[in-house]
Amino acid sequence: MYVIGLEGTAHTAGVGIVSSEGDVLANVKSVYTTEVGGFRPRDAAAHHAREFPGLIRQALEVSGLSPGDLGLVAFSQGPGMGPCLRTTAVAARTIALALRIPIVGVNHCVAHLEIGRLRTGAEDPVMLYVSGGNTQVIAYAAGRYRVFGETLDIGIGNMLDKLAREMGLGFPGGPRIMEMARRGERLLDLPYSVKGMDVAFSGILTAAKAHLRRGARPEDVAFSVQEYAFAMVVEAAERAMAHLGKEEILLAGGVALNERLQEMARIMAEERGASYHCPEPEFLPDNGAMIAWTGYLMYSSGVRMRIEDTVVRQNFRTDEVEVTWR
Ligand code: AMP
Ligand code: MG
Repeated sequence: MYVIGLEGTAHTAGVGIVSSEGDVLANVKSVYTTEVGGFRPRDAAAHHAREFPGLIRQALEVSGLSPGDLGLVAFSQGPGMGPCLRTTAVAARTIALALRIPIVGVNHCVAHLEIGRLRTGAEDPVMLYVSGGNTQVIAYAAGRYRVFGETLDIGIGNMLDKLAREMGLGFPGGPRIMEMARRGERLLDLPYSVKGMDVAFSGILTAAKAHLRRGARPEDVAFSVQEYAFAMVVEAAERAMAHLGKEEILLAGGVALNERLQEMARIMAEERGASYHCPEPEFLPDNGAMIAWTGYLMYSSGVRMRIEDTVVRQNFRTDEVEVTWR
């Protein structure tokens, strides 16, 4: 069976095609950005509406399939921005109705975890999910994927993007902060906010801006912010591993493209005698393949949805999904 998956919770319109054997045949995307950074949900939704038809054609072309070969359509049902989610759902329903194939709505966070398991072979990991809007520590327990820790304010990627905007580096900020941090030398004082397994980033952002105003070298600010913020999330993930007795860490989300975060997570795993897992770069940020694959897992374990069941869920929580395929 071949499955097409549509991702569209936030910036990214992505289309992936996977086979029931877990081969990824296509994974294409277009990312909404603005000159000044920032995010206007309606504009992002308009971007997705513009891009999906071309992306769907492109994914079919790359995969070498024709529309008639598709047996299932999956889409990101939530969590995310209402306008973006609704646009993506309309595109998915259109495919389902036009091709007369079944449709399933997928939880975006669960999809990050499942594509990570598929690509890395991790079996029962603690996932450190670090993206623009989300920062969560997620693991499987008693039939569900549960959130064991999360940000109490803004997402870690959001914090990096805001700091980059303050420094005039443009969007997305994460990669530019990473470049700059390589030339950092001094560790500046910043708040380290871990509360249990939860973390917070607005204090770091405020303190970092204050350092910049007082004339600190931007390289040192970038370096220090990375050291503090990444140490915090790795500590939260490590605690979850210790409490749950899990021996694998899996990275997910666009911020996990960061080489320093990867290094810290790898060292933490080594020191605990655990294993470190990170999928290839194309599967870390939002992508269509993760939606297609998770849709397949759901469908093959018996999940069925009518068109009426495909209303979007802006606040769709990870632990609302009954994991029927494990
Ligand atoms: P996502 O929300 O998962 O699509 O990921 C987007 C976020 O990842 C944005 O906030 C980016 O700034 C961030 N990001 C991308 N590359 C890097 C990097 N190399 N280091 C840190 N953050 C990054
Ligand atoms: Mg994501």
